[in-house]
Amino acid sequence: MNLIILGPPGAGKGTQAKRLEEKFGVKQLSTGEMLRAAVASGSPIGKEAKAVMDAGLLVSDDIMIRMISERVDQPDCTRGFILDGFPRNVAQAKALDVMLADKGLAIDHVVEFKVDEDAMIDRILRRAAEEGRSDDNEETLRKRMAVYREQTAPIIPYYRDKGALKTIDGMAPMDAVTAELEIALGAG
Ligand code: AMP
Repeated sequence: MNLIILGPPGAGKGTQAKRLEEKFGVKQLSTGEMLRAAVASGSPIGKEAKAVMDAGLLVSDDIMIRMISERVDQPDCTRGFILDGFPRNVAQAKALDVMLADKGLAIDHVVEFKVDEDAMIDRILRRAAEEGRSDDNEETLRKRMAVYREQTAPIIPYYRDKGALKTIDGMAPMDAVTAELEIALGAG
């Protein structure tokens, strides 16, 4: 089972993806986590990405598509994967379809987490304090929310038109979100 989970920063995608990992044996692929690891290691990609991430903007499509393409080929993805944070714009969504088709793979479900933006800001600022993330100050956050609205949200109709989209209430308590998610995936 290959999934995409969509929603603005702080919508709880990562938490829910980890639960699906345990339940279905599919691998969570968080491009944000991969990039933060690249920044921490001081790799060339990390060096290029840091300033862009700190500004709340998107890292280049080429880098991201290559990163995901290499990652889904790893043995821990043979039972499937959950894309968390990718695709982030329509160009990435289209490139993903082509890349997966080349590998004989496809996306089975796309789940959108619907949330209230202002409530998200509080949630993220709390998480930023816990994780020490330099891209999570309030100004960057508002920028990341705007980037989600302007660049990422337009991929929702793209998947709706393909008949793959399920929308769930990301504001519900965590366990209720998990239950709704499992129903959306036909596994409730
Ligand atoms: P996230 O943890 O998913 O919110 O990602 C943190 C930051 O990493 C984002 O604000 C972007 O700067 C960058 N990033 C993560 N995923 C992508 C992607 N698919 N395309 C471009 N930039 C990304």
